[in-house]
Amino acid sequence: MNKKTVRDMDLKDKRVLVRVDYNVPLEGDKVTDATRIRESIPTLKYILEQDPQAIILMSHLGRPKGKPDPEFSLRPVVPVLIDLLDKDVQFVDETVGSKAKDAVNRLPKGGILMLENTRFNEGETNNDAEFAAQLAQLGDVFINDAFGTAHRAHASNVGITRHLPAAAGFLLEKELDYLVDAVENPKRPFIAIIGGAKVSGKIEVIQTLLTKVDKLLIGGGMANTFLKARGQDVGDSLVEDDALGLAQDLMNAAKGKLILPREVVIADDFSNDGQAMSVPASEDVPKGWRILDIGMGAVSAFKDELKGARTIVWNGPMGVFEMPRFATGTVELAKVLAELSREGATTIIGGGDSVAAVQEAGIADQMSHVSTGGGASLELLEGKTLPGVAALQDK
Ligand code: AMP
Repeated sequence: MNKKTVRDMDLKDKRVLVRVDYNVPLEGDKVTDATRIRESIPTLKYILEQDPQAIILMSHLGRPKGKPDPEFSLRPVVPVLIDLLDKDVQFVDETVGSKAKDAVNRLPKGGILMLENTRFNEGETNNDAEFAAQLAQLGDVFINDAFGTAHRAHASNVGITRHLPAAAGFLLEKELDYLVDAVENPKRPFIAIIGGAKVSGKIEVIQTLLTKVDKLLIGGGMANTFLKARGQDVGDSLVEDDALGLAQDLMNAAKGKLILPREVVIADDFSNDGQAMSVPASEDVPKGWRILDIGMGAVSAFKDELKGARTIVWNGPMGVFEMPRFATGTVELAKVLAELSREGATTIIGGGDSVAAVQEAGIADQMSHVSTGGGASLELLEGKTLPGVAALQDK
């Protein structure tokens, strides 16, 4: 990576302002998945070892509308952090302003403070220069470890870099190493698996990946549009009629690299309780039925395609995995990836629903890399530069 990292910065006696991504799921005031908090710990521990004056943490959580909203307070992450760091962490219910400044000034040497949600301020998402300057007053050095928001140009990750020396944390560095390397410099064969609801949301990633991969396996709802473009009736399946031409063009451009599921699971109701069965994907789907998952025949065909792959990137579920009955394709494919990982392939799960799926299957730790950012990882796979990364100092 050509950007400075936390290792390149002089942190001794400095107030280190760290942008983390603690946009975690909550139930009431309990954090239900602490992955993102856990992933920030190596950076925080490293900074503490450099004998800083203090660490000041900032993050957003959810989508409050530019003003304080108790539902989106970051207070619930504090006990989790204390537990993971085994150190006291203070909290202030303000992001910038006199209360936040006082809290920073009162910190003991080596103390840690979590600021309230950056998005409680209108200036955050519109990257307001004044808000960025106020944030910057709270620190001497800026470290960005928030990969999940790196594709957004906000005040707490981009605006702030105009005021302070700025470098990447270890999590940001690790995400970039895996995801950029996969597209720029993959060990081959390189195979991508793309699923999820719609083709339209992932056109760019499919187009970019087709120029880089050896094969592209398509599953999930978006496969329906390709099947229909190939001339099949897909019954009542989710399909994007206005993307049929595009799907056809992509298949033509792919010259056989693009591989669709061989077998699908169809159901007579969009629920866990109707009738469901596996059918060859080459058959027309009867009216009143819809494709909700890939079948085991497709999983085993995908497994054959994946055999020998040295780099595999996966984004998007193979079916409506939120319903247990239609999660089989996604979960079984995750197990195939775990097996390939053990055999030495680099397996990268690119954020969002596919991460939830490998976590649910209990095999996230068997993958080479599970990304903490859905939107950000998709943009990297599209070959884009992330504004949160571009704003950091060059090495
Ligand atoms: P995305 O955000 O584009 O990755 O899409 C994820 C969503 O796609 C999940 O909520 C799945 O339920 C949905 N999905 C996957 N396969 C299908 C399908 N065959 N029909 C309808 N929705 C699907």
